[in-house]
This record gives sequence, structure tokens and C-alpha cells, in this order.
Amino acid sequence: MEASMSGVSPREHSVRANCGICPSGCSAKVTLQGERITRVVPDPSRPNGMCCRRVTRAAEILYSPDRLLHPLIREGKRGENKFRKAGWDEALDTVAAGMQDIRSRFGPEALCIYTGRGTFERSLWEMLAPAGVRETCAWSLLFPFGSPNTTGAGSNCYVSQAVIAPVTTFGIWWADTHPDLERSDLIVVWGTNPANASPPELIDRILKARSRGTRITVIDPRRTETATRAGAQWVAVRPGTDGALALAMINVIVTEGLYDEQFVREWTTGFEELRAYVSELSPEKASKITAVPPETIRSTARDIARAKGAAFLGYSGIEYTTSAVQNIRAILTLWALSGNIDVPGGVLFRTPGEGFRVSSAHRLDPPAGPPPVGANTYPLYHQFRKEAHAMELPDAILEGRPYPVRGMLVFGASIITGYPNPNLWRRSFSALDFLLVVDRYPTEDARYADVILPAATSFEYDSYLISDNSVRLRRKLIDPVGDSRSDWDIVAGIAGRLGYGELFPRSASEMLQWAFEGTGVDLNALQASPDGIQLPTHAPKYRKWETGLLRSDGKPGFPTPSGKMEFASSILKTFGYDAIPVFVPPAEGPESDPGRAAQYPLIFNSGSRSKSFLCSQHRNIRSLADQRPDPLVWMHSRDAANRGILNGDWVDVVTARGRVRYRAFVTDDIVEGAVEADAHGGSPIALGPWRRCNVNELTDADNRDPISGFPVYKALLCDVIKAGQDT
Ligand code: SF4
Repeated sequence: MEASMSGVSPREHSVRANCGICPSGCSAKVTLQGERITRVVPDPSRPNGMCCRRVTRAAEILYSPDRLLHPLIREGKRGENKFRKAGWDEALDTVAAGMQDIRSRFGPEALCIYTGRGTFERSLWEMLAPAGVRETCAWSLLFPFGSPNTTGAGSNCYVSQAVIAPVTTFGIWWADTHPDLERSDLIVVWGTNPANASPPELIDRILKARSRGTRITVIDPRRTETATRAGAQWVAVRPGTDGALALAMINVIVTEGLYDEQFVREWTTGFEELRAYVSELSPEKASKITAVPPETIRSTARDIARAKGAAFLGYSGIEYTTSAVQNIRAILTLWALSGNIDVPGGVLFRTPGEGFRVSSAHRLDPPAGPPPVGANTYPLYHQFRKEAHAMELPDAILEGRPYPVRGMLVFGASIITGYPNPNLWRRSFSALDFLLVVDRYPTEDARYADVILPAATSFEYDSYLISDNSVRLRRKLIDPVGDSRSDWDIVAGIAGRLGYGELFPRSASEMLQWAFEGTGVDLNALQASPDGIQLPTHAPKYRKWETGLLRSDGKPGFPTPSGKMEFASSILKTFGYDAIPVFVPPAEGPESDPGRAAQYPLIFNSGSRSKSFLCSQHRNIRSLADQRPDPLVWMHSRDAANRGILNGDWVDVVTARGRVRYRAFVTDDIVEGAVEADAHGGSPIALGPWRRCNVNELTDADNRDPISGFPVYKALLCDVIKAGQDT
């Protein structure tokens, strides 16, 4: 951090630092008055200076009157939301006593920790990951306690797209790939909307590519802001049918011979199975499923196959359907078959060991004993992540299956608003014997807590940032607000009281020592380099499977069990799933459930992100909320007209599970017959109609992808009714 006096007032000064509102840590200029942050603005002169709109509201967020400032201990009945202020010693003693009580009565595995989006600070998810896991946000804090039950936001986000699908196809985690947008001839954005991402760096790269002449295609049920700003070709696909679309494009590529036969022959397995399967899915047939015209399917497939480097940008938009993992595998298969992996402009693979990683020397293995909850139901999820699956927790809490879970530690999460069936979770939290919630603001989950601990933001403790080409420290700018403490101090406080404090860093500064020991990056040098240490860059190498650069043993091929890129996945087959990327129509959709479709004729889609908020966070910040005052449901103009609904009307979105009120956004920028309902409302401190708008009243906890266990937030059935008119 480099200080420079701005001279605005004697006590006001500006520093070059990093935004501490979310883990992206964008480069920013921070103005402080004494010990108080007064203003934060982007610093485009430094790397990662593309900030989101939250950055200029950082002070509002940091000093919000809603902020949790003191430890709280429950006074009333569980769920009554009555708490009293407590000191840290009393609060942490109460936490330790609650945990030990659970262990003595039910065994250590009866305690589970859940870590959510609010704790996505890089050092936390890297340093606290279970040993041997490439990437997870789940923490090892309970392993020495004896419990294998650690879980988190991976149970409903990221893992399908970034772990299970790529590892079962290429043997490579998505974190070890990157899109070569600067050399792409075509960029296909499929299942993500970079215009709303944090940080908004990807949209900048897309727009720059566009200005160089790169073609952009957006495949999405909506013409997103990314599509509009990039002047993209919009392929409007019906929610939940992306797999059918990808497979039909594979059909075109195979039928028209647009693939590299030598690559297929020498470096892949399962092509004949795949060919036989896709031969049944012509563009005409797929068009009836996907709503994409056959000619668009053909032309898009040809565009991808003939591009001199096509990049694929995808994310959670393709994770939430009945066969999501397989749908994503179909897209990855399309990329491999069309010759767009590890070529200039395509999806590039990293060589094992490439890029800087902090030390994993202090990571802990899960304890011996029973496997975590959900390991038997979603064994592949467990194989890759060594963690419990949160979707199975209500069964463990309420039914004791596979064994009782009686206590939970919830760090930086809002489970009641984030997962389907909020009442199931309310019942689950009510039934616990102990619940700790650690957060920066009150959540709906916190209402059920025994103890609430106030956590600091990233402005308030030291950590580090890593990008492709540099490592930097992110220095604390202010002391923790109120009586809050960093997550690191809270972890140390809990571990210390349980008798294993030496297994975790006792402070953020000890964490930094552990992070860099043995890595070749000197912490002292890092501390003396405000702009960080530059990492060596290497000239890109392509088609690395030919030269042994993809496998840790140095042999040519892919790091899969067969050594080849697997159209037919040997791992999926071993675990009893379909080996090739079969498409399964949405379990609740017009094809699978025509009876329900007659009652609920529209396809429900949800889960998209917003520029103003980070999932359920910041819904209480007035200047951000004013930019999105009402939760919206997008619907096509013909669907609206058929129901007498005008743009701006209040409407109820109704599914077989519930009814939630939205304001109608009537548009032609959504595929006809589908709606997109805003997610992430329902926080007890959200402003205006967001507070009562919990989209998960509409979703279904039992409708899941059988491989990842992810809930189907998209591709359900609903209707939209003008408010005040009954069904
Ligand atoms: S994405 Fe926004 S909130 Fe997150 S660090 Fe960057 S500027 Fe801050």
C-alpha cells in the first residue's frame, strides 16, 4: 500500500489499495479521514482496476447501521430473534461449550460447518481447504474436532461447471483453463452474463475483442446486457435444454465432417458411442426441444467448427437443470470436437504446476470415521471435494439420515434464502441443538442462532491477492469496525478453545507466513512491494496433450484414467452414471410432466446475478437498492398480453410450491414461454419489496441434478398472474 497525501483536509488522505467489499480485491483509491474510510473509487491505472458499482458505496456498506458490531447470545426461544450483547470471551466459550455438548451427546460428526459467499476471501478458501482438494470454499475447521462435515456454497454453485464436467471430460479442473479471448475469432457466451460479474473484467475483454472484429454469440434464454453491449448474435434457447442444443450441434459437426478425425482417432475415447447417440438428435428434433430454429443450430455449429479459435465462456446458468453436468459435458465435447481446445483463441489448458499457489503444507485431511453427509448420495461430488453436500443436511437434521446432525456453524451464508424450500431450512435450524452464525450483517439464518459473531470485511485485515501474473498483499486499511473480528481471528478463537489452536493460523499475519513459506515468494519482499511481485510469464504452448504437458507424469495425453479426452467418461461409468453426455429433459417440464404443464404453462428460470448486489448481500444499502428497487420477473410480451399484464404491473409468480410477488418486466428479449424471476431476495434487512421476495418459495428441494446434487433453479414450471387476480 502506497500512501500519498491528497491535501483535501489535514486529516484526510488517500491510499492506493484494494476494494475490500468482495474477494475480487479490485484496485482502488481509498480516502480515509482519520481512521474512517470515506470514499473508495476505482483505480484504472493499476491491474484489476475495473471496479463494479459497489466500490463507490464501500463506505455505506462498511458503516451501515445494520452491521453486526458485537457478539450476540440468544435470549429468547430459538427463532424468536431475541439476543443480548456479549463479550468475545463469553461468546466464544459458549460456542465451544455448544460444540462439545454436541460431540459428547451425538459424536463429532453431528456438527457441520457451512461456509458461503460472504466468506469467499481468497486466503480463507485456500488455506482452510481440505488437503488434496484443488479448489473448494469448504473449511477444515472441524476436522481436528472429529467431524468430516464441512460444506458450503459448492453444494449449489460452481462445482458442476468447474469441477465435475471438465474433470470427467478432460481430467482438468476449470480453474486450470482460461479463455484466450485476445486471440479468439469467435467468443461464445453460454450460461453467464459477464456484464453483471464481479469484477466486471470479462465484459471489458469481450468488448475489446468485439472492437477488434471478434464475433460474439450469446446463447441464453434472455438477450442479456452482455449480448446487447457486445452486439452479439443472440441464440435464444429454452431454459434447461442447453444439452440438447449442444448435442444437436455435435450432430451437425459429425454429419458434415467438420471435426479433426486425427484428433478423435488418436486422442479421444467414446466417439462411436457419441456419434450413435447424437445421430438421433437432428437439428429439427432439437429445435422442438430447445426453441432454437434448425438453421440457427446448423449455422452456429458451423461457426464454432470453422472459427479460427472459438472461446467458450460459461458459468452457473448451465448448472441448474436436471442433467446439468451432462449438458455441460456436451458443451465441452462440442468444443473438443470442433477443434477449439488448447488452440489460439480457444479454451486453453494450463500445465500442471503452472501459476503461483500458496503453500498447502498446513492443510488437514478429513478425520477417519463415517463419511460426510451426502457422500453416499453424491459420491462423485464427494470424491472431488472431500466434503458434505448441503442439500442432504435437512434429512440429517430432521430425520437422522444417514446419521444425526445436531449443530451447525454457518459462516458468511444465507441458507434460508439461497436454497430451495425456505421452510424446510427454518424447520431444520429450529430443530438444531446448537447454531453459530458468523457474518457482517444479520441474515434470516441468524434468527435461529444461539450465538452470532460479528465478522470484519476485507478492509479490516491483511491477506493476499493472486492473479495470473502477480502476487500482492492486500493490507488492512482500518481496524475492525465496532467489536467485529476477522474470520481468521474467529477461527483461531474457536480452534484454540477446542484445544487444537496450533493447527490453524492464530492471526492474519501468521496466516501470511504459512501461506508463503516454501513457495519461493518471500513475504518480506512482498511486504516491500506495494504493487506486488510479478510472476514469470511463459510463451503459450498449444495442443499440449501431444507433448506431455498436461499430465504430471509428463506422458502425452490427457490426465484422465484412459489418458485420452473422454467423450465417454470412465469416471462417470464407474460411478454408475451415463458415460456419454446424454440429455435428459427437465424433470418438471412440458415433455416430462404435461399434466403440470397444463396448469403451469410457463418455464420458470431464476438465479441470474445483479450489478448492485452480491447474491443476498447489500440489499440494505439504499443507493444500491435504489438502482433495483423492485424484484423483476422478465416475461415475453406475448405471454404478458395473453394474461392481460402490462410492463410494470405487480404480478404473482406461482409454482406448485408457492407464490411470490414481482414487478413484471415485459420484453421481447426473453424466449417466448419462459420467465426469469429475480433471485437472492428475502434478507431480513433488504429494503422494500425485496425483503419478502424469496424466490426459493417457488423452487423444489427434491428436484436435483443426480450427479452434482445441485437444485434445479432453472427449468421448472410456473404461471404468472396479475396481482389481485386469483388462479
Ligand atoms: S468487484 Fe466490486 S465489490 Fe468486489 S472488490 Fe471489485 S469493486 Fe469491490
